[in-house]
Amino acid sequence: NQSLHDFDPEVAAEVDAELQRQQSTLEMIASENFAPVAVLEAQGSVLTNKYAEGYPGRRYYGGCEHVDVIEQLAIDRVKALFGAEAANVQPHSGAQANAAAMFALLKPGDTILGLDLAHGGHLTHGMKINFSGKLYKVAAYHVDGDTGLVDMAEVERLAKEHRPQLIIAGWSAYPRQLDFAAFRRIADGVGAYLMVDMAHFAGLVAAGLHPSPVPHAHVVTTTTHKTLGGPRGGVILSTEELAKKINSAVFPGQQGGPLEHVIAGKAVAFKAAATDEFRDRQARTLEGAAILAERLGREDLAAAGVAVLTGGTDVHLVLVDLRASELDGKQAEDRLHAIGITVNRNAIPNDPRPPMVTSGLRIGTPALATRGFDADAFREVAEVIAAALQPAFDADALRARVTALAERHPLYPTLAS
Ligand code: PLP
Repeated sequence: NQSLHDFDPEVAAEVDAELQRQQSTLEMIASENFAPVAVLEAQGSVLTNKYAEGYPGRRYYGGCEHVDVIEQLAIDRVKALFGAEAANVQPHSGAQANAAAMFALLKPGDTILGLDLAHGGHLTHGMKINFSGKLYKVAAYHVDGDTGLVDMAEVERLAKEHRPQLIIAGWSAYPRQLDFAAFRRIADGVGAYLMVDMAHFAGLVAAGLHPSPVPHAHVVTTTTHKTLGGPRGGVILSTEELAKKINSAVFPGQQGGPLEHVIAGKAVAFKAAATDEFRDRQARTLEGAAILAERLGREDLAAAGVAVLTGGTDVHLVLVDLRASELDGKQAEDRLHAIGITVNRNAIPNDPRPPMVTSGLRIGTPALATRGFDADAFREVAEVIAAALQPAFDADALRARVTALAERHPLYPTLAS
């Protein structure tokens, strides 16, 4: 019963160092966030010890009376949060949620239609060496080369041509909202299911600041750790009609014992997501992204070959287009890293540079909004990034501005560093 520090100082030192890294730098990876301390506590609890194959009230193990209550709380809260008829909170991750949803709706060899990975889709939407590309035939839709927007005419054309059993709407790197009603109309036209993967924008939906896919889709999948700000994990929402199929696809179809400590963290996160404070945080997330897009779209950056894809954003991220810049995605990511801002390089549609280099950056605001950043703080961040993407810049001065911002917005002040 020794503490982590006493029993394993090597691991403890790295955990401490990671906390220090999170506290002292600005996290702008669009898929990341900071889970509340209450979620960290739930995840670090004795629930990690419990086997609970099955579902609340129908388990294959004894001693589930407490985890039953917790899992039912998570289910009820997420259903209420999104107005869904049914929910499965057991998927270990977003990829697992997608795998289970597809396992429920499809047979191997069926056809899926999803957004091309290189145009902002996710691996699980049909990438060649992912399960989705190996088990199913894949047709991929794209964004329009001029507007950068999903080409709904192409979606309709491909749906009619390939007659998929499943159409997937959702993205990992796309700065605009999708037209869920149009996707459903196209799916209905060819007898396909519609699955919306809202992993990235679920927090915005929960806050009522982004249209909800729930009324339009047969199945909605999400992660719980991106804009939602909870523990790493996945959720599947569905109609009542599909609930049984989804449940048996998750367990025993895809997974064994659920991670009840993570499910407890999900329950806590769903409670948090129903508060005014959460709504305010999502509003600042959107405001921050809009400020960033406006700043990075100005003339001084255009002169350096830097542009903003689609000319702006409606969500929590900005896609920076470096095709005309001397800086490639990797160099830009490294520059920002050197001044204490963490982002990821990202291939952009029709990227002329190779995938390990890329011509894009994906910059997100959820984690900073969780840290309390307001419009003024986001304006300062935008100025710092704009300066760093210029041909000449003063790294020391920018690093000092980043440190000042981090110090003004303490992260996890109650945790030791
Ligand atoms: N779906 C989308 C749209 C995503 O962006 C991601 C994560 O990047 C996932 C699913 C997968 O989530 P996880 O990393 O939890 O498996």
